[in-house]
Amino acid sequence: MDFALNSDQQAVCDAVQKICAGFDDDYWLEQDRNGEFPHDFYNAIADGGWLGIAMPEEYGGAGLGVTDAALMLHSVGRSAGAMSAASAIHINIFGPHPIVVFGSEEQRQRWLPDLIEGRKKVCFGVTEPDAGLNTTSIKTFAERKGDQYIVHGKKVWISTAQEADKIMLLTRTTAKEDCQNPTEGMTLFYTDLDRECCDVRLIPKMGRAAVDSNEVFIDGLQIPEEDRIGEEGKGFRYLLHSLNPERILIGMEAIGIGQNALARAAEYAKERVVFDRPIGMNQSIQHPLAESWMELEAAYLMAMKAAALYDNGEPCGLEANSAKYLGAEAGFQACTRAVMTHGGMGYAKEYHVERVLREVMIARLAPVSPQLILCNIAEKALGLPKSY
Ligand SMILES: Cc1cc2nc3c(=O)[nH]c(=O)nc-3n(C[C@H](O)[C@H](O)[C@H](O)COP(=O)(O)OP(=O)(O)OC[C@H]3O[C@@H](n4cnc5c(N)ncnc54)[C@H](O)[C@@H]3O)c2cc1C
Repeated sequence: MDFALNSDQQAVCDAVQKICAGFDDDYWLEQDRNGEFPHDFYNAIADGGWLGIAMPEEYGGAGLGVTDAALMLHSVGRSAGAMSAASAIHINIFGPHPIVVFGSEEQRQRWLPDLIEGRKKVCFGVTEPDAGLNTTSIKTFAERKGDQYIVHGKKVWISTAQEADKIMLLTRTTAKEDCQNPTEGMTLFYTDLDRECCDVRLIPKMGRAAVDSNEVFIDGLQIPEEDRIGEEGKGFRYLLHSLNPERILIGMEAIGIGQNALARAAEYAKERVVFDRPIGMNQSIQHPLAESWMELEAAYLMAMKAAALYDNGEPCGLEANSAKYLGAEAGFQACTRAVMTHGGMGYAKEYHVERVLREVMIARLAPVSPQLILCNIAEKALGLPKSY
């Protein structure tokens, strides 16, 4: 077992950190204030060829694995851009996964180069207001009419839908009650986000204002049959394939954000003098930060284990869930402690720790809640009865 990064992995981190360094705290604070998508950052990442890090080389990707993508997004999360920077690009990175694995050769050629080169942005349309975490209860329905489907329904929390050209859309093609198994009867499409039939409404939210999240009301969206991924009715199974990489990447983003906050806290604790000595000389300041250092390192090891298992084609569901859970919780804890270490200044935008605290919350909430991960670990790792 070798815990050090190899030279190629280190080169990924160095190159991505270099791009991120061009976008400082002031840039991201301004994006957060004005709620504008970080096009400059997105273009810099696309121009460097990084959007295709885990995409096959024959379509213009780098052909690397989830481990490399995780290291990349860890570097992005650790930068001043935190979750805003990561969210601006991560759907392009993990979202096309079902196309790579289950799409036809014609679809891969038609879709992947645009995504890899950053000419098209994609959003991910899974969550629905009346289904929540119980994804099999989605109601958005794609009705087949000849060689196309007509879709009606509503989605919620769809990130980047204000900017996206395309949507990876999960629908029902058979009602749940007509299926033997609730995971059947769902179909996955990758298609144009046609704004004539899709009303995209911004959700004002707590943080990450630069990367929008939206309600999407779909009324009569026409999807040609050639935009269906794989077979009708098997969309949920296809989607599951991209969930493990997504969880690993989100976990790594949160770890990076936590480490960024921790570094800011340590720096402030060395400089801030109260009672004639740096506050960092007090153990009540030191110990929570030291705990966070250990928690973040442990979460990182779990995420790297999950990524290695995934890249070796081995089962990694428990590890990917654990990486997301541990990364998000450790990241949140570190950001909270960073705010507390700054005292009142932790609440001031000038010190940026309040911004990263608001942003790291997303990694706890989405794409799956901590409670549901604990339910899964209890069931699958410990053999306890399924509770949900
Ligand atoms: C900023 C942001 C961006 C997002 N981006 C996207 C996106 O791009 N595309 C997309 O499709 N979705 C997106 N989501 C949606 C996200 O994946 C969901 O919010 C998440 O899956 C939780 O679903 P829910 O909000 O409906 O929670 P609910 O299902 O309503 O759950 C609410 C609470 O109840 C708990 N709970 C529910 N059932 C149980 C149970 N049986 N046992 C224990 N606890 C339970 C949950 O753990 C949670 O704490 C985003 C969300 C956010 C906040």
